[in-house]
Amino acid sequence: MCRSRMPEAEAQEAERVAALHRLGIYETSCDPELNRLMTMIGELFDVPCAMINLVDRERTWCLASSSDLAAPPRREDSLCAFTVDHDTALFIEDMRDADGFREHPLVRDTPFIRAFAGERILSLSGHLLGTLCLVDIRPRVFDAESRQRLADLAKLVSLRLNQRLIDEQRHTADAMIDQQTQLLDHLPDGIVLLDDRRVVHYANAAAQRLLGGASHDVKGCAFDTLVAQPEGHDFATASRTGSPLEIHALPRFQGFEALQLGDRASLVGTHQALQRLRSLVDAWPDGVLICDYDNLRIVEWNIAARRLLGTQASSLEGTRLPQWFLSGDRRTLQRRIRAELGEGDGTLRHNATLHNDTPVEVTLVPMQDASETSLIVVLRDRSPYLQHLRTVTRKLAKAEEMISQDALTGLLNRFGFKQAIDEFMVEAERGVPFALLIADIDHFKDINDTYGHQLGDEALKIVASRLAEQLRDGDAVARYGGEEFCMLMTVPEDRVVEVAERIRRTVAATPVTLDDGKELALTISIGATYHTPGLDEDSMFERADEALYEAKEYGRNRTVMLNAATPRARDEEE
Ligand code: GH3
Ligand code: MG
Ligand code: MG
Repeated sequence: MCRSRMPEAEAQEAERVAALHRLGIYETSCDPELNRLMTMIGELFDVPCAMINLVDRERTWCLASSSDLAAPPRREDSLCAFTVDHDTALFIEDMRDADGFREHPLVRDTPFIRAFAGERILSLSGHLLGTLCLVDIRPRVFDAESRQRLADLAKLVSLRLNQRLIDEQRHTADAMIDQQTQLLDHLPDGIVLLDDRRVVHYANAAAQRLLGGASHDVKGCAFDTLVAQPEGHDFATASRTGSPLEIHALPRFQGFEALQLGDRASLVGTHQALQRLRSLVDAWPDGVLICDYDNLRIVEWNIAARRLLGTQASSLEGTRLPQWFLSGDRRTLQRRIRAELGEGDGTLRHNATLHNDTPVEVTLVPMQDASETSLIVVLRDRSPYLQHLRTVTRKLAKAEEMISQDALTGLLNRFGFKQAIDEFMVEAERGVPFALLIADIDHFKDINDTYGHQLGDEALKIVASRLAEQLRDGDAVARYGGEEFCMLMTVPEDRVVEVAERIRRTVAATPVTLDDGKELALTISIGATYHTPGLDEDSMFERADEALYEAKEYGRNRTVMLNAATPRARDEEE
């Protein structure tokens, strides 16, 4: 027999030999059970010898035999090897007629074999392990029936020899099923397997809890007694526990109908919570946009955002955050947000103007959940705020005017005058000096005494307006006391007396006409001083007051100016 092999055939032979040795039966001692089986097969076929021969690379091994008719150990001497080499059953009814076998030592010599049948024994992987063979020393006929019978028996023997591997594989499969079962027990959804009669064959932990509760084992129960499901609906109620369920069919599993049971109570709860949140965000007065963090595309928005942006809902979906949101380019913004996110306080805020001129405050808040980062954009309409700010500013100005104005004359009061002189002092420090004039109505007491206080008030108002008329924009005039007025003006120092005299003369020259037609001739006396560097308010007042005193002293209806350098008249007197 030709036993030289091509490299590919070599590889196949190596695989075959490996499959043989995996069984762990080669060169093991006789299995009495198999020997008994061989005896039965020998009797069945009426042959002196039935045996199992395993074929290794170079040798053969008789695993079981019905008689002592020993098989030759060398593969090349073995009749079985032919079957293995040619991958076919071998039936020879008379060796002496068969080419290639006629000269075989076992035919020519003892035991003078005449008939031989060899059927293949296979591994689970389909490799040829050896043969189940029948040996006779008489010629005989192998009819179709006996050939089929031998083939069936060879399959039985194959199964028996592979038993250990089959057991091992079943063990592994059992372990895998165990693991899968454990995994299924961790699922939040219930899984049940039903047999043809819709009886529960398997229920994972969640299904057990939903359908049976703590006390009732649902395995072996008819599924239709465990749930009440309205016709044509996905939802149902567990009969025992009352749990609301959602039932979905899964692909059949190992011949069983598989169902997934969702706990509707939790689904309904989550859905309701989301709805509430949604309503809250929609009722929110600020616009809220949720964007994909990486590409800044808008994913969600609330009603206020849509109103502010003045767009239809559908036109917002998937659009990019407009540039005006960003105050800077996208990359810079994303870098900034990442930096802020790293510090844990992720808020960026700036003011912007929408395309419809609405002023908004934009707040950007990154939001990270388990799988992704989103950017929440809050748009607060600043128009009501700005409107409010304008109103408040107006009211404040009005209030300030009220507290700084004299109620009778409408001139500044003492408080307003204090503010005015503060401003003049600041300007003076910057090199713009000013004059301070104090005017006092002469003999006003007599007017009150003669005409009454009310007419006196009227006269005060008229004098006040005369003074105000004489001043230029930027000058200030106040009613400082009863019938005493203060004026501040920026004029050159050498023109102060001239201006003061003009004012005095104007008052003196124009009689005051009262409501009842009476005409009063009024005069004023004026004390003036001029700001010099280093002179404070109080000292200036003191100086002007002193000048006024002198004007009264010298006979009234006149102006006296005293400045820092002017020697004091009273000092001279003293
Ligand atoms: P002179 O200044 O020239 O020395 O005499 P005078 O009469 O004006 O002097 P004095 O300052 O003593 O009197 C001021 C008077 O002004 C006293 C008061 O009757 C009157 N007076 C002060 N405030 C008011 C006011 O608000 N209304 C009226 N009608 N009179 C006032
Ligand atoms: Mg006075
Ligand atoms: Mg007076």
